[in-house]
Amino acid sequence: MSFDSLGLNPILVSAVSRAGYTTPTSVQAAAIPAALSGSDLMVSAATGSGKTAAFMLPALQRLAEPAAVRSIGPRAVILCPTRELAQQVAKAAVTYSRTMKRIAVVTVVGGMPYPAQLKLLRQPVDVLVATPGRLLDYISSGRIDFSRTEMLVLDEADRMLDMGFMEDIEKIIAALPENRQTLMFSATFGGEVGRLAQSMLRAPQRIEL
Ligand code: AMP
Repeated sequence: MSFDSLGLNPILVSAVSRAGYTTPTSVQAAAIPAALSGSDLMVSAATGSGKTAAFMLPALQRLAEPAAVRSIGPRAVILCPTRELAQQVAKAAVTYSRTMKRIAVVTVVGGMPYPAQLKLLRQPVDVLVATPGRLLDYISSGRIDFSRTEMLVLDEADRMLDMGFMEDIEKIIAALPENRQTLMFSATFGGEVGRLAQSMLRAPQRIEL
């Protein structure tokens, strides 16, 4: 199995090869073609499984095409439970887009100065990586235009719910276009996470490894 056979744009294959990856991990091999087909996904994936590239590469592949809607708002929104994870995911977005024309990656997390993040949101954003609480603050004050958001990713959804973010996530989803692709990654899909998946995903493909 190689990255060539997953349906990825050659510029992304070259970015992963520059990152030193030769073989896709099992979550990448299963989730990348499924995400590229356009369907919603529920992916059971642990930390360290290579899940970041599994959602980031399909997100970047969308960004290689022009946006359908004229706006400066984010085209892909990625929700993470913690500031540290959000920063790691944003870094991965930069690494995996190294061979593309410039992709604007903005991180919106608690504990960082609000005005500085706001300034970044006033410029065109391609990938927005955020923790739910802080993102909701900006949404509530009308600071983000989601009219061209094509993709939503929930990374470590079970952890976000454990941290009490259910209500925030529901409000964020209500602010996004209904016509979007949603990828949900979680260690488990029992209980509340399963219910959230059922309410927010459309005919999802389930990937369990
Ligand atoms: P993640 O689970 O996304 O946090 O990734 C865990 C680690 O594996 C990160 O350091 C990645 O850079 C690395 N990684 C991801 N995919 C691959 C791959 N296909 N080959 C080698 N390393 C990888």
